[in-house]
Amino acid sequence: SRTLPAVSAPTAERSLVLVKPDGVARGLVGQVIARLEAKGLRLVAAELRTLTTEVAEEHYGEHRERPFFGSLVEFITGGPLLALVVEGPRAIEAFRALAGATDPVKAAPGTIRGDFALEVQANIVHGSDSPESAAREIALFFPAL
Ligand code: UDP
Repeated sequence: SRTLPAVSAPTAERSLVLVKPDGVARGLVGQVIARLEAKGLRLVAAELRTLTTEVAEEHYGEHRERPFFGSLVEFITGGPLLALVVEGPRAIEAFRALAGATDPVKAAPGTIRGDFALEVQANIVHGSDSPESAAREIALFFPAL
Protein backbone atom coordinates (compact mmCIF):
# COMPACT_ATOMS: atom_id res chain seq x y z
CA SER A 1 0.00 0.00 0.00
CA ARG A 2 1.12 3.55 -0.62
CA THR A 3 2.28 5.67 2.29
CA LEU A 4 0.95 9.16 2.83
CA PRO A 5 3.37 12.04 2.30
CA ALA A 6 4.97 13.27 5.52
CA VAL A 7 3.28 16.65 5.46
CA SER A 8 0.19 17.45 7.43
CA ALA A 9 -2.48 19.92 6.40
CA PRO A 10 -1.85 23.34 7.94
CA THR A 11 -3.86 23.84 11.12
CA ALA A 12 -6.45 26.56 10.77
CA GLU A 13 -6.22 29.38 13.28
CA ARG A 14 -8.67 32.22 13.86
CA SER A 15 -8.07 35.91 14.56
CA LEU A 16 -10.34 38.82 15.42
CA VAL A 17 -9.84 41.67 12.97
CA LEU A 18 -11.43 45.10 13.34
CA VAL A 19 -11.66 47.79 10.70
CA LYS A 20 -11.72 50.61 13.24
CA PRO A 21 -14.10 53.60 12.99
CA ASP A 22 -11.48 55.66 11.12
CA GLY A 23 -11.17 52.93 8.48
CA VAL A 24 -14.94 52.64 8.06
CA ALA A 25 -15.38 56.44 7.92
CA ARG A 26 -12.66 56.73 5.28
CA GLY A 27 -14.17 54.00 3.11
CA LEU A 28 -11.28 51.56 3.52
CA VAL A 29 -13.33 48.46 4.39
CA GLY A 30 -13.17 47.07 0.86
CA GLN A 31 -9.41 47.50 0.58
CA VAL A 32 -8.78 45.83 3.95
CA ILE A 33 -10.99 42.86 3.06
CA ALA A 34 -9.44 42.63 -0.41
CA ARG A 35 -5.96 42.42 1.12
CA LEU A 36 -6.78 39.74 3.66
CA GLU A 37 -8.73 37.68 1.12
CA ALA A 38 -5.91 38.03 -1.42
CA LYS A 39 -3.53 36.70 1.23
CA GLY A 40 -5.71 33.61 1.59
CA LEU A 41 -7.45 34.32 4.87
CA ARG A 42 -11.08 33.24 4.90
CA LEU A 43 -13.94 35.26 6.39
CA VAL A 44 -15.78 33.38 9.12
CA ALA A 45 -17.89 36.24 10.54
CA ALA A 46 -18.49 39.91 9.77
CA GLU A 47 -20.60 42.56 11.45
CA LEU A 48 -20.78 46.34 11.33
CA ARG A 49 -21.49 47.69 14.80
CA THR A 50 -20.87 50.57 17.17
CA LEU A 51 -19.23 49.40 20.39
CA THR A 52 -20.56 50.26 23.82
CA THR A 53 -18.06 51.72 26.30
CA GLU A 54 -18.31 48.46 28.28
CA VAL A 55 -17.32 46.25 25.34
CA ALA A 56 -14.56 48.67 24.30
CA GLU A 57 -13.08 48.70 27.82
CA GLU A 58 -13.23 44.91 27.92
CA HIS A 59 -11.62 44.57 24.48
CA TYR A 60 -8.74 46.90 25.41
CA GLY A 61 -8.60 45.75 29.05
CA GLU A 62 -4.86 45.12 28.94
CA HIS A 63 -4.33 48.86 28.33
CA ARG A 64 -6.54 50.02 31.23
CA GLU A 65 -3.64 51.66 33.11
CA ARG A 66 -2.11 53.35 30.05
CA PRO A 67 -2.43 57.13 29.63
CA PHE A 68 -4.12 56.74 26.24
CA PHE A 69 -6.84 54.36 27.50
CA GLY A 70 -9.67 56.91 27.84
CA SER A 71 -8.94 58.44 24.49
CA LEU A 72 -8.68 55.01 22.85
CA VAL A 73 -12.08 53.94 24.22
CA GLU A 74 -13.63 57.19 22.98
CA PHE A 75 -12.10 56.66 19.54
CA ILE A 76 -13.12 53.03 19.17
CA THR A 77 -16.73 53.77 20.27
CA GLY A 78 -16.93 56.93 18.13
CA GLY A 79 -18.60 55.35 15.11
CA PRO A 80 -19.37 52.04 13.49
CA LEU A 81 -16.54 49.53 13.08
CA LEU A 82 -16.40 46.31 11.11
CA ALA A 83 -15.69 43.25 13.24
CA LEU A 84 -14.37 40.22 11.37
CA VAL A 85 -13.21 36.75 12.26
CA VAL A 86 -10.67 35.43 9.78
CA GLU A 87 -9.32 31.92 9.50
CA GLY A 88 -6.29 30.32 7.95
CA PRO A 89 -2.88 28.84 8.72
CA ARG A 90 -1.14 31.17 11.23
CA ALA A 91 -3.97 33.68 10.72
CA ILE A 92 -2.90 35.78 13.73
CA GLU A 93 0.65 36.35 12.52
CA ALA A 94 -0.47 36.60 8.90
CA PHE A 95 -2.90 39.43 9.60
CA ARG A 96 -0.44 41.27 11.91
CA ALA A 97 2.03 41.23 8.99
CA LEU A 98 -0.61 42.67 6.64
CA ALA A 99 -1.50 45.37 9.23
CA GLY A 100 2.07 46.55 9.90
CA ALA A 101 3.52 48.24 12.98
CA THR A 102 1.22 49.92 15.53
CA ASP A 103 2.72 53.34 14.69
CA PRO A 104 1.70 53.87 11.05
CA VAL A 105 4.67 56.14 10.38
CA LYS A 106 6.97 53.24 11.27
CA ALA A 107 4.79 50.67 9.49
CA ALA A 108 6.35 49.49 6.23
CA PRO A 109 4.84 50.79 2.99
CA GLY A 110 2.77 47.94 1.54
CA THR A 111 1.14 47.24 4.88
CA ILE A 112 -2.37 48.52 5.67
CA ARG A 113 -1.17 50.96 8.31
CA GLY A 114 1.92 51.86 6.29
CA ASP A 115 -0.20 52.74 3.27
CA PHE A 116 -3.25 54.39 4.83
CA ALA A 117 -2.49 55.99 8.22
CA LEU A 118 -0.35 58.58 10.01
CA GLU A 119 -1.56 58.50 13.63
CA VAL A 120 -0.91 55.87 16.29
CA GLN A 121 -4.49 55.85 17.57
CA ALA A 122 -6.31 56.08 14.25
CA ASN A 123 -4.40 53.22 12.65
CA ILE A 124 -7.25 51.63 10.64
CA VAL A 125 -7.16 48.04 11.87
CA HIS A 126 -6.88 45.77 14.87
CA GLY A 127 -5.71 42.16 14.79
CA SER A 128 -5.42 39.76 17.73
CA ASP A 129 -1.83 39.43 18.96
CA SER A 130 -1.83 35.84 20.33
CA PRO A 131 -3.98 32.72 20.38
CA GLU A 132 -5.11 33.64 23.92
CA SER A 133 -6.13 37.16 22.85
CA ALA A 134 -7.87 35.79 19.75
CA ALA A 135 -9.96 33.35 21.83
CA ARG A 136 -10.90 36.10 24.31
CA GLU A 137 -11.69 38.68 21.61
CA ILE A 138 -13.68 36.29 19.40
CA ALA A 139 -15.76 35.25 22.43
CA LEU A 140 -16.36 38.94 23.25
CA PHE A 141 -17.46 39.95 19.73
CA PHE A 142 -19.03 36.72 18.46
CA PRO A 143 -20.10 34.59 21.44
CA ALA A 144 -22.02 32.21 19.17
CA LEU A 145 -18.86 31.13 17.28
N1 UDP B 1 -2.61 53.18 20.85
C1 UDP B 1 -2.62 54.54 21.11
N2 UDP B 1 -1.49 55.13 21.62
C2 UDP B 1 -0.37 54.42 21.90
C3 UDP B 1 -0.36 53.03 21.64
C4 UDP B 1 -1.50 52.45 21.11
O1 UDP B 1 -3.63 55.21 20.87
O2 UDP B 1 0.62 55.01 22.36
C5 UDP B 1 -3.81 52.55 20.30
C6 UDP B 1 -3.68 52.14 18.83
O3 UDP B 1 -4.95 52.33 18.20
C7 UDP B 1 -3.35 50.67 18.93
C8 UDP B 1 -4.17 50.25 20.15
O4 UDP B 1 -4.08 51.37 21.03
O5 UDP B 1 -3.70 49.96 17.76
C9 UDP B 1 -3.70 49.01 20.87
O6 UDP B 1 -2.33 49.13 21.14
P1 UDP B 1 -1.34 47.88 20.96
O7 UDP B 1 -0.04 48.26 21.56
O8 UDP B 1 -2.02 46.65 21.47
O9 UDP B 1 -1.13 47.83 19.37
P2 UDP B 1 -1.68 46.86 18.20
O10 UDP B 1 -1.75 45.46 18.77
O11 UDP B 1 -3.05 47.39 17.80
O12 UDP B 1 -0.68 47.02 17.09
